[in-house]
Amino acid sequence: MTPTPASRPTRVAVLGAAGRMGAAACAAVEQAEDLELVATIGRDDSLDQVAEAGAEVAIDLTIPSVTAENVRWLVDRGIHAVVGTTGWTDEALEALRSQLAGAPEVGVLIAPNFAIGAVLAMRFAEIAARYYDSAEVIEMHHENKLDAPSGTARHTAAAIARGRAAAGLGPVPDATEHDPEGARGAVIDGIHIHAVRQRGLVAHEVIQFGGVGEQFVLRHDSFDRISFMPGVLLGVREVAAHPGLTVGLDGFMDLG
Ligand code: NAD
Repeated sequence: MTPTPASRPTRVAVLGAAGRMGAAACAAVEQAEDLELVATIGRDDSLDQVAEAGAEVAIDLTIPSVTAENVRWLVDRGIHAVVGTTGWTDEALEALRSQLAGAPEVGVLIAPNFAIGAVLAMRFAEIAARYYDSAEVIEMHHENKLDAPSGTARHTAAAIARGRAAAGLGPVPDATEHDPEGARGAVIDGIHIHAVRQRGLVAHEVIQFGGVGEQFVLRHDSFDRISFMPGVLLGVREVAAHPGLTVGLDGFMDLG
């Protein structure tokens, strides 16, 4: 919800502010007239600064091993969280849901991908999945990414699986019997995912569908981290109006 011109700016903290995404988020918040950057937290800083600065929303762009604990801390203090850090396990999500049940006014958005095009690709993939026997996901990222497969690829696989289930499709056809090296990739929700780590890349996803005599491909490329910032700002502006846990930026978009 964008505040009216008369209202004061929303007070925002960035966790992981010295990182690549965090630095871009700090710049985006500073440039937004309806937001005020009140705290920037690095690896060695105390989270107490977030509360002391009166932050209403915190953006977490840290690392998978600390993000769940950061969000637990924020929710404990009634601070809304917009989380881009990937690597959330089902157990961590469940613990967060339980915590939020006791803090009904707090909103948390966990967005595996803030790029609007990547969110659209996931939605389009769910639709396309109904019509094709075969579907596979190839995700490609820079060499410094810590987790694989990407959160976006996991969610894309889940979306494809939902589409296939809705259409009554069974397992994807695949005659592979012998694959000792795992060349067929990870399998998430019955969908194969292939992860590429390559210097020079940022974040890219190719979703391939195959039917008799045809192929349909969806592709999204983030060439620069700035591509994530419109989604980050959308999350910051909307999170207070969406109490509880929202997984996926599409929860804040009107995609029908
Ligand atoms: P990065 O390594 O450049 O930045 C991470 C930063 O977090 C580092 O500066 C590190 O020192 C800091 N950090 C570690 N522990 C901390 C703590 N306890 N408190 C505060 N800061 C801490 O990584 P990045 O490329 O900026 O990515 C950050 C995260 O965002 C990763 O999980 C990445 O997968 C994810 N990501 C998400 C999206 C999305 O659209 N959702 C897009 C790109 C990256």
